[in-house]
Amino acid sequence: MEGCKHRLEDCRNLVPKTSRIGKFTGQKFLGCKEYPLCTYLIPLHLDEENITDNQKKISKAFWLFVRSNSFMAATFGAVYFNLREVNLLDSLLRSDLILPTDGVEVGLTKAKIYYQLFYYLFLIPSPEIKLYLINNFPKTYSYFLVDDPKNRYFIEGIDNEKMVVNEDFFREYSNLDFIS
Ligand SMILES: [Zn+2]
Repeated sequence: MEGCKHRLEDCRNLVPKTSRIGKFTGQKFLGCKEYPLCTYLIPLHLDEENITDNQKKISKAFWLFVRSNSFMAATFGAVYFNLREVNLLDSLLRSDLILPTDGVEVGLTKAKIYYQLFYYLFLIPSPEIKLYLINNFPKTYSYFLVDDPKNRYFIEGIDNEKMVVNEDFFREYSNLDFIS
């Protein structure tokens, strides 16, 4: 199978799955097609009844962020450096916030994305978010793999030969406090 070298950080074969055993029964996650050879997984379950205040705050910032392009740049910190939970991001992208119109890719988890949003979300300093985006939206991701200066994040920040995300490249954008 292409992509997965059975090293967790390189996993490129994630598909939606549902847990069938133990206390996680019924919960959704992204798991590797090559399980048990590769055991990488990303939990997608979000307890919407018990959402935290911080998650509410981040959701609100994200809604504004998607609704307004100018807000997108202005709130770089609020969204990019705090929306690091894949389960929260996936639930937001599955919501009515993004309509399945032209240019929108519906991902494996039924989450929706478009080119510009993918670009900005990829800057979230979290390898897990990047793997989620790469695996969930293969078509949109493929648009970034062409040699173009505006794709420098994708050219310089990711080693596409080795399929490794170079977090050092993104470090200068990391670890800022939440901007409310
Ligand atoms: Zn894998």
